[in-house]
Amino acid sequence: MENIILIRFGEVFLKKGNRGHFLRILRTALKGALKRTPGLQGWTVEAFHGRFLVRAPADAAAESMGAALAAVSHTFGVVSVSPGMEVPTDYEALSTAAYDLGVREITEGNPRHFRVSASRSYKRFPMKSPEIERTIGARIYETHALPVKLKGADLVVGIEIFEQSSYVFARSIPGPGGLPVGSSGTAVLLLSGGIDSPVAGWMMAKRGCHLVGVHFHSYPYTSTRSQEKVVELARALSRWHGPMMLVSMSITAIQEYLREHTPNEKLVLFYRRTMVRLASRVAEEMQAKALVTGESLGQVASQTMENIAVIGDASSLPILQPLIGMDKMEAVDLARRIGTFEVSIQPHDDCCSLFLPPHPDTRGKVPIIRTMEENLADLGRLEDEAFEAREKNVIGKA
Ligand code: ATP
Ligand code: MG
Repeated sequence: MENIILIRFGEVFLKKGNRGHFLRILRTALKGALKRTPGLQGWTVEAFHGRFLVRAPADAAAESMGAALAAVSHTFGVVSVSPGMEVPTDYEALSTAAYDLGVREITEGNPRHFRVSASRSYKRFPMKSPEIERTIGARIYETHALPVKLKGADLVVGIEIFEQSSYVFARSIPGPGGLPVGSSGTAVLLLSGGIDSPVAGWMMAKRGCHLVGVHFHSYPYTSTRSQEKVVELARALSRWHGPMMLVSMSITAIQEYLREHTPNEKLVLFYRRTMVRLASRVAEEMQAKALVTGESLGQVASQTMENIAVIGDASSLPILQPLIGMDKMEAVDLARRIGTFEVSIQPHDDCCSLFLPPHPDTRGKVPIIRTMEENLADLGRLEDEAFEAREKNVIGKA
């Protein structure tokens, strides 16, 4: 029965100076999210009194509303969305729409109390807001005898009256909030097959980062299935982020070389420095201004403060680590909520555990690692070769 969606945004609104810019990005993101969803041709997005209004085409299939709601409520920058009905500015039309939506919510949602809330921008409408609320509220009460509650009602039937058309809503679905993707620039996400890095990517996308994913594999030591898993993770992220470029690189030759030429207990530090350098080259190519990784302080040997410093030393770019202060359980909860957990827990082989000793060094020192690395005569050439052989795919296109 609904034919429009009202989109509310929060933070974007606060950024006074850049407001127009942010809203353009958000509108483009909403249009993109609708366009990528099958069966939503002809849906439009327009500015609407400090919000956006998504409108279904006249011939939209009834079930397409659910798909449209899912698309827009996964868009960063959106605080909440309400499906509703656009009706002529006429009391009878408003009352019927409000009654129909209200009754459906009472039947389906089992609220304990309700209220009708009207706002009247079109001041020449013949009835005032309290009167509209009272008469429509009475109409719903007559058939359903649900108690009215003026503050904190479970069900609020909202009515907004404008000169051209008016709108009725009875439901609000939370969005993720944050900033629209792209409004903070581009960052390169180091995407493994684990639980943490997709969550880290989601968190930075929520802060407006457009992401380019980079995955390192060690085929044939790691399976092609592990690479497919990373594609699936990128696809799960793209549901929120929009289409995402994924760059894959083999670091097999580098790992074999490092195994031969560096002390075993420091191997993971050299792997990671190589990853960070190669990701920085992708960043340069894509004009990205930062890297994003999924470290959480103290979680594993490579995530001590000393080792984080050693790894970060390999790049001049900032390395954003949004999970740094999170416990594993918090990352897991978020992974479940954003839909990456089920993919992440599928078995995979991790290129970082390749050739690793049981007790890696937890106290790496930057000058020592730098000196050792300077003596690795073939490392630069091997990294060049890995970079040249990179593969690019865009994940999550329509
Ligand atoms: P995750 O769950 O994201 O794999 P983790 O807890 O296993 O993280 P590490 O294995 O120490 O932690 O990896 C730290 C970070 O390094 C990852 O979050 C990821 O950003 C990056 N990383 C690790 N392995 C790879 C890889 N094969 N390709 C791309 N990035 C990687
Ligand atoms: Mg991992």
